[in-house]
Amino acid sequence: PVVRDIMSKKVVTVEQTDSFIDAAKLMKQNERNHVSVVSGGKLVGIITSWDISKAVAEGKVDTVGACMTRDVITCSPDETADVVAKRLAEFKISAIPVIDDNQTVVGMLTSEHISKLFTRGK
Ligand code: SAM
Repeated sequence: PVVRDIMSKKVVTVEQTDSFIDAAKLMKQNERNHVSVVSGGKLVGIITSWDISKAVAEGKVDTVGACMTRDVITCSPDETADVVAKRLAEFKISAIPVIDDNQTVVGMLTSEHISKLFTRGK
């Protein structure tokens, strides 16, 4: 299978200037642990529940921009699931924003989507 067939197609994003509480609310509403950060419609970072936990543990009350990871590992919707699964393992991450040629986020692929491939029809 290719990424576009198994990813979450509902795109949930925040801006760097948003508070991390806004990111936490979006995670809760959408039952997600990972949210893409965009600026001018293009991907500039990723913020995860781990990043928010870390900020809270350190007593920081901050913006998304201060908590996010800027060097984002991404994939294209046309890549195969096995290639992207290896990327998740290689970089020890559990989610990867799916972007098109214009750096626009078109989805999110997580290790849960990969796990489901092994239980189809069971
Ligand atoms: N194994 C855990 C996981 O996969 O979520 C923790 C890995 S690491 C300690 C968590 C860090 O990876 C967070 O700071 C998060 O922002 C970052 N991260 C998650 N997905 C990423 C991605 N696709 N590209 C770059 N960094 C990412």
